[in-house]
Amino acid sequence: MAVLPSEPEFEQAYKELAVTLENSTLFQKYPQYRKALRIAAIPERVVQFRVVWEDDKGELQVNRGYRVQFNSALGPYKGGLRFHPSVNLSILKFLGFEQIFKNALTGLNLGGGKGGADFDPKGKSDNEIRKFCVAFMTELARHIGPDTDVPAGDIGVSGREIGYLFGQYKKIRNQWEGVLTGKGNSWGGSLIRPEATGYGLIYYVQKMIEYATNGKETIAGKRVAISGSGNVAQYAALKTIQLGGKVISMSDSKGALVVRDVDGEGFTPQEIEEIAALKVERQQISILANKEPYATKYKYIENARPWTHLPKVDVALPCATQNEVSGDDARALIAAGTRYVAEGSNMGSTQEAIDVFESHRETNTANFVWYAPGKAANLGGVAVSGLEMAQNSSRESWTSEKVDQRLHQIMENCFNLGLKTAKEYVKTPEGALPSLLAGSNIAGFIKVAEAMHDQGDWW
Ligand code: NDP
Repeated sequence: MAVLPSEPEFEQAYKELAVTLENSTLFQKYPQYRKALRIAAIPERVVQFRVVWEDDKGELQVNRGYRVQFNSALGPYKGGLRFHPSVNLSILKFLGFEQIFKNALTGLNLGGGKGGADFDPKGKSDNEIRKFCVAFMTELARHIGPDTDVPAGDIGVSGREIGYLFGQYKKIRNQWEGVLTGKGNSWGGSLIRPEATGYGLIYYVQKMIEYATNGKETIAGKRVAISGSGNVAQYAALKTIQLGGKVISMSDSKGALVVRDVDGEGFTPQEIEEIAALKVERQQISILANKEPYATKYKYIENARPWTHLPKVDVALPCATQNEVSGDDARALIAAGTRYVAEGSNMGSTQEAIDVFESHRETNTANFVWYAPGKAANLGGVAVSGLEMAQNSSRESWTSEKVDQRLHQIMENCFNLGLKTAKEYVKTPEGALPSLLAGSNIAGFIKVAEAMHDQGDWW
């Protein structure tokens, strides 16, 4: 597979998948799948465009816009839009590549894609954000559609941006159609979509704990370290608290808030709501550091992630961005007693961190840990996006109970499929838990490769 060295994040994501396939018996049993991997590693299409808009001073601004339409074997391209200054083709190709196999694991008919722009929403007025969204969609509209490509939100793109983007698409096409997910509840959005990634992550972790302890334990009473304080982190925190777990950290791109006493009280729902309100205003959690009750209860560590600042952790949930858990962080988490790591973020762990986690799966050792990759643990968001598309097509709105119950089922199916596939294709050492990384990668890959074969993409 020719991977350009100028695409480090994509190369990392590709290698992570390819190595797990190589190290399993998949290619021995089905050597033809090697060909499928070579084909699947190249996007069907990449669209790149300029976005010109006017700021509040009347000055011209320009950004780079992208949509990577990676794979449509299982359904329309589906994946979020990221607005962040770091966005480039390597990052969007890594995200789009992950998205293909993640979407396969939902069990729904969704292809894989990802897009966005190197636009920084921080410090921009609502007016500037609206103008940017209008300019971005003016070009993107010609490449997407409800049966072609259905984007959603990601970092920097929340309900507000989806609204502006949808409005512009509708004006251009003169059609109200389910072309974006994450819409407002009163105009085609699905209940539970904002919550879905964070809630789904916790449902997945519950399955991990249940399996590893033979049903003896749940997340109740566990110390849960979370990074990030955006959409995924907020709802993962709220669901943890609701189920009796204790959230002991939150963070953002400027620093981390960690509890001073890991045996005392964790974050309360009110504190999470306060953080959420700050984030709507695009402010930093550092604002809270000197305010009560935060100042007494939490330590604020500037420019830090939480992982090395907590003496005792049971569950670690990276929920901010890619490569936010290094090899050293992984070792610190294990030293702090972490038993479960599940990624809310995409590619939250570096390859070194994954290697550290994966080599500690023996449950009969004092420091075992079980790791779940983002493409399995965080698929709740795209799964409910798929349910939003189903509701739009049938002009129906389901109750939150119905959506939540489907989400539960999808997360459970994904967990069971990863487990079953790992047992089938990977030799698990005596006393170790099966690799959810390998099982999820192989299960997602087989599904996509088979569909591609049926459609003549490889032969
Ligand atoms: P948000 O924009 O709502 O929140 C992102 C959070 O991560 C913020 O706290 C932000 O800090 C922090 N962050 C962003 N970039 C960095 C960085 N370079 N270093 C440290 N912290 C950073 O995004 P989401 O919650 O939607 O997404 C979080 C992760 O989850 C991403 O990896 C995304 O791809 C993944 N994901 C999201 C899904 C969804 O449904 N939203 C679905 C599946 C995965 P600050 O506030 O300072 O900017």
